[in-house]
Amino acid sequence: MLLYIHVPFCRRRCGYCAFHSQALPDGRVPELYLASLLEEIRSWSERLPEASCDPVESIFFGGGTPSLLEARQVGTVLEAIAGRFAVATDCECTLEGNPDSLARPGLLADLRACGISRLSMGVQSMDNRELAMLGRLHTASQCREVVALARRAGFENLSLDLMWCLPGQTVQGWLATLAQACDLGPEHLSAYALSIEEGTPFDARRRAGELALPGEEDAEAMFLEGRALLEDRGYAQYEISNYARAGFRCRHNLGYWLGADYLGLGPSAVSTLNGRRWTDPPDLERWAQSIAAGRLAEDPEAIPPATRLLETVMLRLRTADGLPLAVYEALAGRSLPEDAGAFLRELCRQGLLVMDTERIALTPRGMLVSSAVTSELFLRLERAALARTPAKGPRQ
Ligand code: SF4
Repeated sequence: MLLYIHVPFCRRRCGYCAFHSQALPDGRVPELYLASLLEEIRSWSERLPEASCDPVESIFFGGGTPSLLEARQVGTVLEAIAGRFAVATDCECTLEGNPDSLARPGLLADLRACGISRLSMGVQSMDNRELAMLGRLHTASQCREVVALARRAGFENLSLDLMWCLPGQTVQGWLATLAQACDLGPEHLSAYALSIEEGTPFDARRRAGELALPGEEDAEAMFLEGRALLEDRGYAQYEISNYARAGFRCRHNLGYWLGADYLGLGPSAVSTLNGRRWTDPPDLERWAQSIAAGRLAEDPEAIPPATRLLETVMLRLRTADGLPLAVYEALAGRSLPEDAGAFLRELCRQGLLVMDTERIALTPRGMLVSSAVTSELFLRLERAALARTPAKGPRQ
């Protein structure tokens, strides 16, 4: 099982962000959050006795800005989990953080000492003008300093998060950010295209014509040339937006893409466990009240088999390893080439897909248009499913 802990606080909100988090200008995480989180861990451990779920293989503090927590708070949470759940001996413990808050004196060494084994740092760009435009609170030189501090603190598994397709960004500018990030020698890199989410300040600015986003051709070059640069520097792409040196794929996210069960804790955290899915209240006070009242997993939705099948296809196709035909067959009860063979062959002909007797996988060009490809594929799979549903005859 994967454990996700949502830490819904940031020093300041970035203009493009649609994640649930509240601004904490003084950076002090409220005690209410920590007390409720510990109570949520306790309650879940009672609801899920050790024998009923797999050992915890990954604990992921995501946000928000988990690096606003004090190391003693992180340590208390990890101790509570270890005391109440079966935790795998090689459990990966990741903490997301921003360079400005990770630079606090002593924090990195204390995080390492309390059991955090992997740091995922929100760098976003190595260009100070882009960082200012995004509303980030750090500079490129601070990123370099924090990576050096993390190494001195004993972190041997570092990931840097970067963003491309930024307003005003050129292909050369993006490749320069990537090259500088590689020079820092992280074990893992994530490279997400900026997506303008509805209701964010960036959305308002785009509507007002204030954001000049790169055109389609530049975006394509950023993805393909960026990918080539990373592969050249020893980072293998294992998911559309994720690259790693051998042995350093993110176990937690890989678990999501492969369909593992996960328990989410904290405001707005999503869980998927034993065929059901639910979301914790996306508000600190409401979440704390429901935990205090012993209300866990309110309004869980059963995941219908057809949804599970489409989610599996969509998530597996995000990975470089692709979708094993046997996985599709086990869920659908039919073979994928039978359900969508002609469409898959056409994708192969266009150079968007590779297919052999074991699996299908998107090519790099296919990854660029993955949403369109999966939507089209879903249509065909739904039609195939409908065609094999026996028509109801009149009652005799
Ligand atoms: S620091 Fe991260 S989570 Fe917080 S507002 Fe910025 S992008 Fe969103």
